[in-house]
Amino acid sequence: MAIIKELSSHLADLIAAGEVVERPASVAKELVENAIDAGSNRITVEIENGGITYLRIADNGCGMAPEDAPVAFRRHATSKLRSEEDLAAIGTLGFRGEALAAISSVTRIDLFTRQREAIAGVHLHLEAGEIQVNEEAGCPEGTTIVVRDLFYNTPARMKFLKKDFTEAGYVLGVVQHAALSHPEIAFTLIRDGKQVFSTDGKGKLITPVFAVFGKEMTANMIEVPENEHNGLTVHGYIVKPHAGRANRSMQHFFVNGRYVKSRLMQAALEEAYRNAIITGKYPSGAIFLELPLSAVDVNVHPAKTEVKFSQEKPVFEAVYIACKNALAANDNTPQLEHKE
Ligand code: ADP
Ligand code: MG
Repeated sequence: MAIIKELSSHLADLIAAGEVVERPASVAKELVENAIDAGSNRITVEIENGGITYLRIADNGCGMAPEDAPVAFRRHATSKLRSEEDLAAIGTLGFRGEALAAISSVTRIDLFTRQREAIAGVHLHLEAGEIQVNEEAGCPEGTTIVVRDLFYNTPARMKFLKKDFTEAGYVLGVVQHAALSHPEIAFTLIRDGKQVFSTDGKGKLITPVFAVFGKEMTANMIEVPENEHNGLTVHGYIVKPHAGRANRSMQHFFVNGRYVKSRLMQAALEEAYRNAIITGKYPSGAIFLELPLSAVDVNVHPAKTEVKFSQEKPVFEAVYIACKNALAANDNTPQLEHKE
């Protein structure tokens, strides 16, 4: 008797959800990325209980058509990828068409969306990936998604969540990274009714830098002006050598607008401080690397924080040189001023 059977789509979603949705911050990351891809210039994230019981994200982006909205929750449904060729040069943050399917399979969701020119929008309610309500609704332009009760139907996963405070901290990290890479978007994070982070969306990088690193550290930062090397562009802000920290928690790296964890960029940054920083101290900063879309593969991990560079040496050099030059010029640089 045959014993091999295809998984039901619900079961497949649940398994996929394990890769995409680990904690509230992963939900926040996917939804913020969707809001960015939708062309929003204002994104508000609101959480309660670390985002476990309640996570709301409102954007003023392009919205979805009423007939598209239910499709967005199906697995591998995306408006961002059409052909195999597209895969070689991904310009949007999303492309797998997995996030909404995965998130909705382990939560209760309300979606409100209205396209810019449309008179009415649509409201969907889903439980465990099943659409329960699909109705016309008068809603603001853009998309609002409310995600409740993460992992309510998969209690085993619930156990891996940390205390609310810790989960809220991870969500804050997601919003901070998004704000750093998009100074042109006004971000707000509200935690348990209190605003804990915001940027003005006026396009100046110093604003999110100030919001993320704080007043004191920002006063000790120098700008890395845009520096081109072999077709790779680097810019950002880094600390003066005397302001090194005991750990690397304030190092943030971005590749083509995407927050990444990169040992390579970390090594290049630290190499630029060699002999300038006390042993055991690490530089802090936000470094942005821009390179041709085809020179980097973002398709290595579902959570997409790891990237693969087709060539590592030019990346190392570009980051190293940009930081080294900025540090060399530092002596003549007047103190940074920033007023809130
Ligand atoms: P992906 O982002 O990889 O395409 P998702 O599951 O995250 O996959 O989203 C599926 C689709 O739903 C997107 O391709 C997009 O068309 C639509 N969508 C999701 N979120 C938004 C949003 N905030 N505004 C407009 N469209 C959205
Ligand atoms: Mg997405």
